[in-house]
Amino acid sequence: MRPGTFECITADSVEEVLSALADGDTAVLAGGQSLAPESTPRVVDINRVPGLDLLAEQDGVLRVGPLVRHRVFESNAVGGPMGDLMRLVVCHIGHPPVRARGTMLGSLAYAHPAAEWPVVAVMLGARFVLAGPRGSRTVPAEAFFTGAFTTLRRPDELLVEVCFPALRAGTGVGYAEDRRTTVFPQAAAMATVTATGGVVEAASIGLVNAAPCPVRARAAERVLLGRPLSDSTIAEATAVIEVAAFRTLVRRALSQARTRMRSGAQVGLQDERGGAGR
Ligand SMILES: Cc1cc2nc3c(=O)[nH]c(=O)nc-3n(C[C@H](O)[C@H](O)[C@H](O)COP(=O)(O)OP(=O)(O)OC[C@H]3O[C@@H](n4cnc5c(N)ncnc54)[C@H](O)[C@@H]3O)c2cc1C
Repeated sequence: MRPGTFECITADSVEEVLSALADGDTAVLAGGQSLAPESTPRVVDINRVPGLDLLAEQDGVLRVGPLVRHRVFESNAVGGPMGDLMRLVVCHIGHPPVRARGTMLGSLAYAHPAAEWPVVAVMLGARFVLAGPRGSRTVPAEAFFTGAFTTLRRPDELLVEVCFPALRAGTGVGYAEDRRTTVFPQAAAMATVTATGGVVEAASIGLVNAAPCPVRARAAERVLLGRPLSDSTIAEATAVIEVAAFRTLVRRALSQARTRMRSGAQVGLQDERGGAGR
C-alpha cells in the first residue's frame, strides 16, 4: 500500500514540536508503527529532539519519555518488580521490528483498546505529563483514556512523560493472554500482588481489550486484600470479574504472580516469549 501525500516537519526541540502542533491538524511521528500518514495532512517527527529518550528511576518513580522504544523494556533497564512486569508484558507486543521502532508513549497516545501499555499505566496508577501552548499539565492514567483511540490529550499537546509509582520489593507479577496473531491480543490479564506474612497487602489487576478503555478490576482486587493468596481466594477474586472470558486469564495471571512472589524469581525473556522470533 502506498501512503498518500503528507508534509513532514522534523523538529529539533519540544518548542518546535509544539509550534507544529499548534494548528490542531498535525500528528506526532514517534515510532510510526500506528500512525497512518494518509489520515493526516502533516506530521511532526520528534525523533531528533534531544532528551525525549528519558528513562530514569528516581525517588520511587519510574519516568519514561516519548522516544523510549518498546524493546528497551526487554532488557534490565528497569529494575525490581516494575522491570519484571514490563519484561513480561513487552515481549507480547507485536514482533521485533515493531518493538524496535514503536514507543511506549506512542502506544499510550494511540489508545488502542487491545494495547498492553495503557492497561499497565491504569493498573499501576501512572501519571501522564502533557506539554502544550499554555504550559504543562499532569493527568492520572485512569482519566487520560476516554474511549477507543480517544484520550484527554488536546491536538496541540505532546505527551512528554509518563511517571509510574514503583512497586514494592517482593511484589509478584503475572500476565496471561489469548492471542491468535502477532497483532494485538484478543484478551489479556495482568496482575501484581504484594504480601506480608502470606497476607495480601496490595494487589492490582488489569484487563486488556475488555472495554474501549483500559480496565482495572478493582472489585477482584478488593477480594484479595487482607487474605492469604490461596487457590480459593484466587477463585473468589476471579468469580467477581464481570466478563466471563477474562476469568481464566485473571486466575492464570494471579497464580503466576503468586509463584513469582514466593520464589523471588526474576522474569526472564526466554521463559515468557510465546515462541521463537516473537
Ligand atoms: C504489526 C503490528 C503489530 C502490533 N502489535 C501490537 C500489540 O500486540 N500490542 C500493542 O500494544 N501494540 C501493537 N502494535 C502497535 C505498536 O505498539 C505501536 O508502536 C504503538 O501503538 C504506537 O507507537 P509509535 O511510537 O509507533 O507511535 P506512532 O505510530 O508514531 O504514533 C501513533 C499515534 O500516537 C500519536 N503520538 C505518538 N507519540 C506521541 C506523543 N509523545 N505525544 C502525543 N501523541 C503521540 C501520534 O500522533 C499518532 O496519532 C502493533 C503494530 C504493528 C504495526
